[in-house]
Amino acid sequence: MGSIRFEHVYKRFGDFTALTDLNLHIEDQEFLVLVGPSGCGKTTALRCLAGLEEISQGAIYLGDRMVNHLPPKDRDIAMVFQSYALYPHMSVYDNLAFSLRLRSRTSLVRKLLALGFHRAAYHRIKATEADIDRRVRNAAAILDIEHLLGRKPKVLSGGQRQRVALGRAMVRNPRVFLMDEPLSNLDAKLRVQTRTEISKLHQRLKTTFIYVTHDQTEAMTMGSRIAVMRDGVVQQLDVPQRLYDHPSNQFVAGFIGSPAMNFFEAQVSRTEEGWWFHIPNLFTLPIPAEKAAPLGAYAGETVIFGIRPEDLHDPQHLPAGVNTEVRIRATVEVMERMGSEIYVYFEKGGREFVGRFDPRVTLQRGDQVEAVIDMEKMHAFDRTTGEAIATRA
Ligand code: ATP
Repeated sequence: MGSIRFEHVYKRFGDFTALTDLNLHIEDQEFLVLVGPSGCGKTTALRCLAGLEEISQGAIYLGDRMVNHLPPKDRDIAMVFQSYALYPHMSVYDNLAFSLRLRSRTSLVRKLLALGFHRAAYHRIKATEADIDRRVRNAAAILDIEHLLGRKPKVLSGGQRQRVALGRAMVRNPRVFLMDEPLSNLDAKLRVQTRTEISKLHQRLKTTFIYVTHDQTEAMTMGSRIAVMRDGVVQQLDVPQRLYDHPSNQFVAGFIGSPAMNFFEAQVSRTEEGWWFHIPNLFTLPIPAEKAAPLGAYAGETVIFGIRPEDLHDPQHLPAGVNTEVRIRATVEVMERMGSEIYVYFEKGGREFVGRFDPRVTLQRGDQVEAVIDMEKMHAFDRTTGEAIATRA
């Protein structure tokens, strides 16, 4: 069973706490992504799981077995790093076969010593080499690197090296794959391609994958679930769409999504007509009736109002069903054309915010624009704790 549990795990380096009360339950065959900014503890969590770091407190389980004190080689886990760490003097074939040979030789020497039974050991070596050959060729076929088996790493492209590194993990047929930013050395196109290959590999191998990245796009596209981390603490563990639509706090809301969600400090007020956000010197926006209940407790107080860039629209190109009543006026500062859409950066009252507009809009820098804001999709967060008060419909 490739299920994994971190239970109340702490990892301290001196007085610095890199992991605080980490609780993760990862199902067998799941693809879990750990995502978060640099230094948030992602690699440390992987290293603790692999047995490369000893945890300071708590417990880690592989299946039903607590592995706190189990050495790395007995954990049946394979790790793929950002640096491929291939042996430069060995062929691709030998790189793939290396760990298997090492393992079989160790066990063979042990057997020789124990049994003194040389003839049987000789036949065993032959059988083992045949098995290693089968496993190496099988992994090479899956990763489409059979034609590279005789080459040395230095003549391979970055993407090919990456596949060899994956292959080296695969031949061991581990219960769990750990991957630490394995795509960061690849160029943009290859990164997208290899991303898909890793997802396919996961479907094919039906093994548990834990994948570390600081890139939210990688996290969203690859993970069956995503754990967003900050300063050694998991902020939210959820399926990608729920993280996006219902972030549990302002940090997750700002981290997931590109361009990031727009945030404004807003006072909550009530009049006879209903509930309002008043954003000083910028806008007064009506709070949809169904969001008024959770925000009612904040009457007269300031909260953080959030709206994703795709929930601002050009009035000429509105998606079906968007309520057009709420509009805001602002000046176009910068436009970034992405082909399928345009990121329009607005300025008003010294504040900048961004909309993802239809690419057919004909705007120019300096234009005064009236943008439709889809308040049904609004978010609100507590200004002090950052916790979500209301999330999109
Ligand atoms: P990155 O994306 O930059 O790799 P990360 O989220 O993987 O970051 P970690 O490498 O897990 O972060 O590091 C978490 C924190 O623990 C960092 O502040 C780091 O400096 C600290 N840290 C990691 N290893 C050690 C160590 N051996 N001794 C002291 N501090 C350490």
